Amino acid sequence: MTTAIHWFRRDLRTLDNVALATATDQADQVIGLFVLDPKLTAAPKVCQARLAFMYSGLRELAQKLEKRGGRLIVRRGEPVAELRQALRDAQADALYFNRDYTSYAQKRDPLVEKTLSEEGFRVSSHKDLVVFEKTEILSGSNTPYTVYSPYKRRWLAEIGQNPPERVEPRWESLKLEQQTLLEMSGLEIPAPPPGFEEAYFMPAGEDLGRKMLTAWAGALAGRDAKSEHHPPIEAYATERNLPAHEGTSRLSAFLRFGAISPRQCYRAAINARERANRVAQQDGCDTWISELIWRDFYYQIMWNFPQVARESFQARYGQLEWAVNAEHFTAWCEGRTGFPIVDAGMRQLNQINWMHNRLRMITASFLTKDLLLDWRLGERFFWEKLVDGDQPSNNGGWQWSASTGTDAQPYFRIFNPTSQGEKFDPTGAFVRQWVPELARVPDKYIHAPHTMPPAMQQHLGIVIGRDYPAPIVDHKLAREKALEVYKKVG
Ligand code: FAD
Repeated sequence: MTTAIHWFRRDLRTLDNVALATATDQADQVIGLFVLDPKLTAAPKVCQARLAFMYSGLRELAQKLEKRGGRLIVRRGEPVAELRQALRDAQADALYFNRDYTSYAQKRDPLVEKTLSEEGFRVSSHKDLVVFEKTEILSGSNTPYTVYSPYKRRWLAEIGQNPPERVEPRWESLKLEQQTLLEMSGLEIPAPPPGFEEAYFMPAGEDLGRKMLTAWAGALAGRDAKSEHHPPIEAYATERNLPAHEGTSRLSAFLRFGAISPRQCYRAAINARERANRVAQQDGCDTWISELIWRDFYYQIMWNFPQVARESFQARYGQLEWAVNAEHFTAWCEGRTGFPIVDAGMRQLNQINWMHNRLRMITASFLTKDLLLDWRLGERFFWEKLVDGDQPSNNGGWQWSASTGTDAQPYFRIFNPTSQGEKFDPTGAFVRQWVPELARVPDKYIHAPHTMPPAMQQHLGIVIGRDYPAPIVDHKLAREKALEVYKKVG
């Protein structure tokens, strides 16, 4: 009887889980283990939304394993020590896990592999979190891509030639012997932090992730040919930039914790594409696949250029003279900048711990260009708030917006927050939802309420400067200042 441990980390699912499937193929019985690492779960200002989502996902996973006669053992502590102890308790000789690419994982995982293999355990790590990892997609000169479009072309060519296999665990191996069940003790899965039990994004889990993916892209195995129903993915190319329309999948937290795999997402999108009748609908599917590729792109950047976690990818921007202004930063964090679309985005983030991508771009541009505040401040704030907070994508998104990153928006392209609002929230529906004090402002003024004539402000009972802030900067002047500061080092 051979026993192995599968170390669950960001792969909280049973289906299409590469390391889990391999472990169950190779060992007679496989125990699931999750280590609550205080460096992550008890870090200062750790995002409570993410903890809640993770605990919810763990609970579902534990139930799934129990139904199969197995167990998810939860321990708390430093990973090497906990893994060693668990391997000994289980009399297991092998450890399986799926690779991760964040700064922390880049230090933790080699240490785990080295220490435990030197102690005689077989340690086996697998690619699962992304479709292509590390240096799998290289340019013609054998270097990692730092520009997205050619990366995407290679990614698509590669997947066309090597479509990822669908894997399932060998379920029999998840059933544990009575003796093993008796010997393996663990902690209770913590309850979600107070106030997050029924948060907007709850519950988590593999079943819900798959259900949402099916609703988004049609059945995982392909939409019924006769069905009249058009899955929302088909409209993604046009709807994704309109935050009031909710035209994106909202699967990011499920991908973040591996409740669904990026390969499942890719397959669902390809199936939807095959079923789509019109070019515009196929465009929707293609555009969504492009976003999954952005995700892979930023993971390979984090892996190949780990310094981006701390520094601007483009070294010259290390010299940028960022402003120091605590008042501006607080106004931005709290959604009180006087720019309705920025404030709506920040309030969405503060209230539901998720923000629409267009708003992430607008608010990040506003912080770094209009306020000239260091992108790292914004990156940290998003990290503390986002239920889908994921270092490679968060860092990539911030450096893109600040023009300091790989393939970033050129520094002279500075979003005008008022026209962004007018373009992407033309009726002001999104602003009215998240900034309720502006609900009665007429469409004409919704993105620049400070331009409302004073008599109208009095009449509506929304006096700018009293009931809603006046803009904290003059965008035109702020833009000129940003151009000057960036040009100095650009
Ligand atoms: P959809 O539009 O349905 O996209 C599908 C999936 O593709 C997403 O779930 C996500 O996994 C991936 N994806 C989409 N856009 C991007 C992108 N630009 N970069 C990388 N992956 C992408 N995404 C995170 O998952 N975690 C973060 O911490 C994060 N921080 C961001 C910070 C900034 C400043 C910016 C501009 C973007 C950030 N993004 C981040 C990317 C993007 O905003 C979110 O992935 C997206 O809004 C999630 O919503 P959705 O699931 O409905 O996405």
